[in-house]
Amino acid sequence: MDNDKKPKTDYLGFYGLLLIIMLVFNSFLLPGITKNKVNEVDYSTFLQMLEKKEVEKVKIEDNKIFFTKKTDSEDKAYITGKLENPDLVKQLEKSGAKYSKDIPTENSPVQRFLLTWVLPALLFWMIGRYIVNNMSKKMGAGGGMMSFGKSNAKLYVKSTGVSFDDVAGQDEAKEALTEIVDFLHNPEKYTKIGAKMPKGALLVGPPGTGKTLLAQAVAGEAGVPFFSISGSEFVEMFVGMGASRVRSLFKQAKEKAPCIIFIDEIDAIGKKRNSNFGGNDEREQTLNQLLSEMDGFESDLGIVMLAATNRPESLDNALLRPGRFDRRVPVELPDLNGRESILKVHSKNINMDDNIDYTQIARATSGASGAELANIVNEAALRAVRCRRNIVIQEDLEESVETVIAGYQRKGAVINDKEKKVIAYHEVGHALVAAAGKHSAPVHKITIIPRTSGALGYTLQIDETEKVLMTKDEAIDKITTYTGGRAAEELIFNIQTSGAANDIEMSTKIARAMITRFGMDEDFGMVALETINNQYLGGDTSLACSPETSSKIDKAVVEIVRRCHDSALEILKENIDKLHEISNYLLKNETITGEEFMDILDSKYEITPNPNKTNDSFENDDNQKMVEEDKDV
Ligand code: ADP
Ligand code: MG
Ligand code: ZN
Repeated sequence: MDNDKKPKTDYLGFYGLLLIIMLVFNSFLLPGITKNKVNEVDYSTFLQMLEKKEVEKVKIEDNKIFFTKKTDSEDKAYITGKLENPDLVKQLEKSGAKYSKDIPTENSPVQRFLLTWVLPALLFWMIGRYIVNNMSKKMGAGGGMMSFGKSNAKLYVKSTGVSFDDVAGQDEAKEALTEIVDFLHNPEKYTKIGAKMPKGALLVGPPGTGKTLLAQAVAGEAGVPFFSISGSEFVEMFVGMGASRVRSLFKQAKEKAPCIIFIDEIDAIGKKRNSNFGGNDEREQTLNQLLSEMDGFESDLGIVMLAATNRPESLDNALLRPGRFDRRVPVELPDLNGRESILKVHSKNINMDDNIDYTQIARATSGASGAELANIVNEAALRAVRCRRNIVIQEDLEESVETVIAGYQRKGAVINDKEKKVIAYHEVGHALVAAAGKHSAPVHKITIIPRTSGALGYTLQIDETEKVLMTKDEAIDKITTYTGGRAAEELIFNIQTSGAANDIEMSTKIARAMITRFGMDEDFGMVALETINNQYLGGDTSLACSPETSSKIDKAVVEIVRRCHDSALEILKENIDKLHEISNYLLKNETITGEEFMDILDSKYEITPNPNKTNDSFENDDNQKMVEEDKDV
């Protein structure tokens, strides 16, 4: 059903091919069929032949004489123009030629035209029709052929093969959509109370959360015709094509109502129209057409519009006003339970070990989208195959989580011993500082095996429980943990390496957000100094304050990170024996699990806690990823 070939181009190609085949057919094959056996001769030659009594049979038709010769062994016919010659009959009788009907004659022009052009065209047309019909049956589309300039929406009448059961963890979204499906099945139930169905529902959420999948599931459950088209398909090379596509889409839909129209990635046509830059006329025309078509049908007609986007803030307001896409269905990143059930859904058709702990994998993948989780399960299956097993075990899943987060293990990457030592101390620096922080997530794994993503090692921390809020203490602990790597480099080797680049970026980001968005700094208070431009894609921000404030913010950010760095150094100094011990162990083993780490830690020493603490807690609207990975060192 993902076959996106445009039928239009297929037909053009098909008819071009047809013409070529017919030309070849006519110039090489047909002459043999139509003109065979009839050879033209002069009238005088004919008379000579008569004289010599060589003519066997004659036939006179349409001012032409057809005849055969006695001397020819096979059946060969001749033709010659007939002249007004009163003596001809006598001459014929004299030479003993017989009159006969069964001499092959030349085809008439009409016959020839039929034979050379109409018959083959008919034949090819029938073959073409047969193929196209078969193809569209296979694609599940019931629509007719020939769609020049028509919408290329795919029409599903029966199941797409996807049902609500295939969509895990999106219960609210499913509920909202179930209502729509139900309305299309029994409209009376709703109209009896006087309730009107919303005309359109907009699925919004980050990429890979299952918006397209949900729409396909609606198609599978609805049992009504389902038109599916992607917003980008409206944007055509020819001006005016998009608008005409929209028109014909709605025309088709009205004929088939009750039905559902689904426009995927609607932001491709639904972007805000702007007056300053001339804009994209073609796109605006298409959008205008869409708006007017949406006004043009009553909701009791039974057409429901669905659309999906991951940039709701870029949509034109006219699209969102009541009467159009007036219902928003958020499709958010899955929570712990959601992730677990998504993992299970995708494991359904995979040979999994019986005692796999899905909860643990779900906990390690906080912030992952449904698509990423599907990818993790698939990577695990591939890994099992690589290891020549026919069953997927826990270890496969764990390794593939790391693969998806940090890239493949880079086998054969040669790192010299000195650098390896620096990397080990750097990672253990992170881990020790994390362990010292009361508010840090426990260390789950430390490794110095390089990854294809460029990470030379990393420390994985996994929270026990799902968290949606970050307190100020947690934020501080996080930054301190990030600075722990560099602190270890400085403390032990007295060097600063490029390996801390990612740590620096992350800690700066958090420190900045603490001031500009979370209101966690006394000097600035609860003032929003930054706004988020794009909620679902990256979440990049833009400053909303004066240049003076901005430079004050920069100073404050530096101050926060410096304080954290200092306390990280402090922690490591006090635990320098542990640092040496664990780093040496890591150098030997390359990977340490959380338990091993805690064992070494607990055996003798008491870790000194981080002194840099306060007690306030503020909302974190950011759903910070709890898996802290270290892309560089
Ligand atoms: P979107 O349209 O939101 O970007 P898709 O619907 O294309 O995301 O999802 C991509 C793939 O990710 C799906 O085909 C499916 O395999 C998987 N997936 C995403 N969300 C879910 C979910 N909630 N349950 C099961 N699979 C999911
Ligand atoms: Mg999609
Ligand atoms: Zn680091």
